[in-house]
Parts: sequence; C-alpha cells; structure tokens
Amino acid sequence: MSEKMSYVCEDFDTKVIHAGQQFDQWKHREVVPSIVPSVTFFRIDPTTIDGYSYSRFGNPTRDALQQCLAELDNGKHGLVFPSGSAATHAVFSLLKSGDHIVSCFEQFGGTRQIMLDYAEKVGIEIDFVDVTELRHLQNAIKPNTTLIWLETPSNPLSKITDLQAAVKVARSHMDSNIIIVVDNTLLTPYCQRPLEMGVDIVMYSLTKYMNGHNDVLGGALIVNDDELHKNLLHFQTFYGSALSPFDCFLVNRGLKTLSLRMERHFQNALAVAHYLETHSKVVKVYHPGLRSHPHYELAKRQCSGNSSMITIELKGTPEQTIEFVKNLKIFLSCGSVGSYASFVNIPIYVSHYGLPQETLNELGILDTHIRLIPGLESINDLINDLKQAFETTFRQTNA
Ligand SMILES: *Cc1c(COP(=O)(O)O)cnc(C)c1O
Repeated sequence: MSEKMSYVCEDFDTKVIHAGQQFDQWKHREVVPSIVPSVTFFRIDPTTIDGYSYSRFGNPTRDALQQCLAELDNGKHGLVFPSGSAATHAVFSLLKSGDHIVSCFEQFGGTRQIMLDYAEKVGIEIDFVDVTELRHLQNAIKPNTTLIWLETPSNPLSKITDLQAAVKVARSHMDSNIIIVVDNTLLTPYCQRPLEMGVDIVMYSLTKYMNGHNDVLGGALIVNDDELHKNLLHFQTFYGSALSPFDCFLVNRGLKTLSLRMERHFQNALAVAHYLETHSKVVKVYHPGLRSHPHYELAKRQCSGNSSMITIELKGTPEQTIEFVKNLKIFLSCGSVGSYASFVNIPIYVSHYGLPQETLNELGILDTHIRLIPGLESINDLINDLKQAFETTFRQTNA
C-alpha cells in the first residue's frame, strides 16, 4: 500500500478495491495493474539483478495480486499458484517422510487424494477425524504431528469447525510446531479470516468465489510467518508453480466486486434455502445460515455471512435426483462453485466421485444429495426454476 493510501484503506470493502493497486508502481501511473507477460527483464548492469529478473521468480502483475490478497486476510505474505490444488501441493512440499497429519474428515475430494498420494509415496501418516468435535482433534495429535488441515464449512454438508478452539487445542501440545492450515475457499476473506484466529496458512482455490467469473483456475496461500513464506516461495519459484500474469490480471479484476458478490450470494442462498426447507419433496437442507443448522450459532460468531453452497436431501429415488438436476434450466449442471451463474450438481458424481461406498457412508453422503450453488441472478427466477423442476420431475416419474 502506498503511503498516500495506507491511512484511509482500513476496511475490507476499500482494500479489495485499492490494495496492491497503487498507480505509482507503474511507469505511466496506470490505475489498473498492467499485464506484464515478459518472461525476462533487461539487466542494465549484466552482473546484478535490479528489481525483476525472470518471471518465475517474480512478476509485477503477480505481485499486485499477491499484495492485494495478503491485505484482504490481514496477512503479511500472499502467494498465487496455477490452481487451488497446486497451492495445496505447495503446503505438502513442506512435509517429510515420517510426519503425521491430522485432517478434517469431510473435505474437498482432490485434497484428500493428494494426502493419500503423499501417504503412499512419501510415507506420511494421516488421520482423518471429525474435527467439528474437538476431542477427536485432541486425541489425534501425536508427537510427530506437523500439520493440521481444516476446511470449514465442510463440503458438502457445511459442518463448521470452531477455529479459535481448534488452534487452542493444537497449541496446547508440548513443543508444538504444528502448522495449521485452513482451506477458506468457500467463505473467502470477506466472510472469514483464519489468520486472525491464530491459523498459520490460509489456502484458497481462486477458481471459485474469489475470481467469481468461472474463467480462471488459480490458488493462493496467505501467511504471516517469514520462514514459512520463504519455504513456500521456494516451492512456487523453483518448482515453477506460479499463476500466469494474464490469470493474475483476471483474478485481480474479479476481486474488485468480491464484497458485492458475496453479499448477493448469501442473500440468494438464504432465500433458496428457506424455500427448500418448506418443500414437501425435500427431507433436509444444509446451510449454515439456517437456524435449523446444528452449527448456526458458531457460524454466526465465526463468520460474517456465508457462502451460497446449499446441500439438500431429496425425498425421492436416485433416478429422481438425476432427473431433478436435468430439469433445472437456470441452475447449470456443473462441477464447481462460486460463479456469477447458479450451478447444481450431485456430490457423488462430482466432488466426491470415485470414493468407495464405505467412505461415502462414513461421510454421510447419499445418492439423493444435491448441491445447489445460487449465483447472482434474480431470486424470483431461481425459485421459479426450482418450482418447475420439482413439478416436472415428480409428475414424470410418479406417473
Ligand atoms: C475447488 C476446490 C479446491 C481445488 O481447487 P482447484 O482450483 O480446482 O485446483 C480446493 N478446495 C476447495 C474447497 C475447492 O472447492
């Protein structure tokens, strides 16, 4: 942040517009950060590096985005990667054979896959536990535990982990140097800032709400600790895992409307969730903004607002579940979240595809679960779309 700005730029809604965007970093005082595609930078003195040298090690467009992201989490350092999964991989690069991880039980399927690969190939031990019950976390930590991986709200059933309490449990262990990571993809720093609760690394898939326009794959890590930053930066630069300048430009642009988008996503989600709760063909609705959600009070205390991810259990057969998704017209059948357009999908065929039935049972994920992710459209049109899909599905298949 330039000096001119730093004293007025305290609130999230201002930082998301101005952080990292200072015009005096650019030759022509550009108000919009430039896309700098140049891979290499001219050396005036051939023997020294003055500023940027080679784009893998540093790029002005990437720096503008990294600075903006760091400030949104009130963090010191931000690093961006070519996908959320690449950001996750960077965290795992910190581990060595013999280390032990405690991971939340219900999580993004791809993260679980990376963990299982590391367990098999590198010789890392993992315990998947239901961290929403803190005694499970307490009991799982061992002398060789080096990493705790949390994702809250969980996917797809939106269970909330009490982050402050989880940090306290982890820090109470003797000689504990445990790195605590939170995947904050679903909430974004607009709704939840884990570094402020004592977490070490905040991880994002920028692909989702952060960019919000469904046109970039990206990931980010935000940290305060300089040593941790140094090690993650080593991975980003030496292993060639940085986000491209074009994609940095798009994410930086997408972020400008993050506050407005998250407000509207939350409003639309609440309206859709309330409608679904009263519907006779719905057994259960999972969203942390509903009073019926078991972690409603915790979510209210820990987060401001929430994501638009809603999971419902349909009162019907697996075939009717598929029909219902097919019959929706505005909700697009897509495997992602956080776009301006509304999406719908069936977890067992998307985020949790290929998991053994035993694991699905343990996670409580059913073949009649549907995930709805309202976008930014009009709430009337979204509810009318749901109404017509219910009518068509149950008329067709009950006949
Ligand atoms: C999508 C997603 C990821 C992985 O991000 P990619 O950008 O697809 O690699 C990780 N965590 C969560 C919660 C996600 O939704």
